[in-house]
Amino acid sequence: MEHKPNQRSWTASAPEHFTGSVWNSRITEDAGGLTMIGVQFAPGARSDWHSHPNGQTLYVVSGAGRVQTKDGSTVEIASGDVVHAPPGEVHWHGARPDSPMMHLSLTTAGPTEWLHKVSDEEYGSADSR
Ligand code: MN
Repeated sequence: MEHKPNQRSWTASAPEHFTGSVWNSRITEDAGGLTMIGVQFAPGARSDWHSHPNGQTLYVVSGAGRVQTKDGSTVEIASGDVVHAPPGEVHWHGARPDSPMMHLSLTTAGPTEWLHKVSDEEYGSADSR
């Protein structure tokens, strides 16, 4: 067993891949290839459109947000929710306009494939309330 005391720092997520204020902290990257990253989104902030070669599991720790896939379907997410994106599925994730959101991102092997920005129109169209 290995205990890693909290020495992790939060860094601003690359603005070329995110809109708004987004911070991330790499929590672990184990020998089995699992990468776990904490991501905090300010209200209105979101990732660009992207996909993951081996898929991605999100665990929403706090707040409320939304995810959208390329077919236009949107899911409102909140703390305790789990979202799984299958390999190669184009999607984005972010906070709601009226709430911050933090999730854990769990991925294995392979870099994220980044596409274009989520426009305000696309982000707004994701409001299913
Ligand atoms: Mn993703």
